[in-house]
Amino acid sequence: MSKYSFDTLNQNLERVRSRIERACERSDRTPEQIRLVAVSKTHPLRALEAMYEAGVRHFGESYVQEWQQKRPELPDDINWHFVGHLQSNKSKYIADEVRLVHSVDRKSVMKELDKRSSQPVGVLLQVNVAKQDSKSGVFPEDLIDLLELSTHYENLRVEGLMTLPPYVDDPETNRPRFQTMHRLYDEAVEWLERHAPEKLEDFTELSMGMTNDFEVAIEEGATIVRIGTALFGERND
Ligand SMILES: *Cc1c(COP(=O)(O)O)cnc(C)c1O
Repeated sequence: MSKYSFDTLNQNLERVRSRIERACERSDRTPEQIRLVAVSKTHPLRALEAMYEAGVRHFGESYVQEWQQKRPELPDDINWHFVGHLQSNKSKYIADEVRLVHSVDRKSVMKELDKRSSQPVGVLLQVNVAKQDSKSGVFPEDLIDLLELSTHYENLRVEGLMTLPPYVDDPETNRPRFQTMHRLYDEAVEWLERHAPEKLEDFTELSMGMTNDFEVAIEEGATIVRIGTALFGERND
């Protein structure tokens, strides 16, 4: 079977789903509480088509240009998630077009998304939880300032937090980082209760966990997992 055949991808999907189920059992959660986003960056159209046929409706892409090429070729009922690093000058291309922007971490991007949207756009605030030098995201201690700022933009619907911790061989290494994210989420909720209660009901998501560590992320409270390699195979990038 070839890498991108329906059978291969369907089997990958079933495996991932059963791993999600087992992680839920271990942590008294239900699979309905976890949204699977299939991160399809660098994979060809036929891979997305097969995954769609297998039932996936949430896809994540990282590069605006690549996404713009794929999108018109695919069904309209796909929910697109932009998970890559976002430059403010590219915001206009995704503002009204994606279900959720996972990677908002600064004012210029908020401002541009707000300006370019004709209706509120769903966003997550990205946190650089491990304080890596090269990574996007605000440091944990700056999150509340970013959250406060976000409440000034009428066209942003802040739905929660996202993190992209370092790749680690042992997923347990990321467990304390996921725990920190859960705590930050709770702190953000408390802040909203006090300062912007009307925004509370939208703030429900914790996007964390990738191929290598999604089970640990689920055990620590993820509501969205972003999975590429376990679904589509290795990327050739
Ligand atoms: C590529 C990517 C993923 C998927 O990574 P895998 O390890 O292949 O599952 C998830 N999130 C973001 C932000 C990514 O860029």
